[in-house]
Amino acid sequence: MKLIRFGQPRKEKPGVEIAEGVRKDCSALFEDWDAEFFAKDGLRRLAATLESHSHALPGVPAGARIGPPIARPGKVVCIGLNYSDHAAESGMEVPKEPIVFLKASNTVVGPYDDVLIPRGSTKTDWEVELGVVIGKEARYLNSPADADSRIAGYCISHDVSERAFQLERGGQWTKGKSCDTFNPLGPWLATRDELDDLDNLAMSLHVNGRRMQWGSTGTMVFKPSVLVYYLSQFMTLEPGDLISTGTPPGVGLGMKPPRYLCPGDVVELSIDGLGSQRQTFKAEREVRA
Ligand code: ZN
Repeated sequence: MKLIRFGQPRKEKPGVEIAEGVRKDCSALFEDWDAEFFAKDGLRRLAATLESHSHALPGVPAGARIGPPIARPGKVVCIGLNYSDHAAESGMEVPKEPIVFLKASNTVVGPYDDVLIPRGSTKTDWEVELGVVIGKEARYLNSPADADSRIAGYCISHDVSERAFQLERGGQWTKGKSCDTFNPLGPWLATRDELDDLDNLAMSLHVNGRRMQWGSTGTMVFKPSVLVYYLSQFMTLEPGDLISTGTPPGVGLGMKPPRYLCPGDVVELSIDGLGSQRQTFKAEREVRA
């Protein structure tokens, strides 16, 4: 299944994409794709609904804004330096254990929404990532094999980053990761059965039509099931939580000279089976005085 949400920001309704470009409105039967939905075995109920009467569901209005595919997560957990070649371009060693940081959950926006370059920013950068959404509580799992049943599905997660805030302003990475609109998500949440080979998904990111990032989930250091197991030793992962699993090479920070985003730049991201995103970057002051 491919879960989507549509409508105005913070008023999105739940829906599904049943074929390319064919979207159905599920709001008469389901409240939202949120923590409660996942916790109460909603995916199974949704599958049963689609099997019996997807034809009876109304269509999503043409031109409706596509929002993030899940309601605001309880937390967004990010993994740093999880592709060996990205670690190299950042001048850092491949970590022995996953590097973990948190990103404010109100950064999550739709896949085609504008992204705001924050006030005072000179180093806004891009990061295409595989997003993992938790479906069932994960707490002190015994092994990575126990993790798959805790995962609801996968989506594209854009971990937009301000490098000066992240690396030059002291403290942890949080400041450079949590600015408004810094986490475009979607367009859909794909359940596991939608993906042929989770360990071999091509991923890419273009800026103004020029390819900047490309890679494959095949070169991830710590795979999603390992990450869910690992994180569960330190925190309880709850239904609806989002994990962004790290980015392949080709970020602006790693270029010589570095290349950062300016107002008017258009960034496009794609991952096999998970669709594509497209955002226009705008200066915060242009949007909100
Ligand atoms: Zn990242």
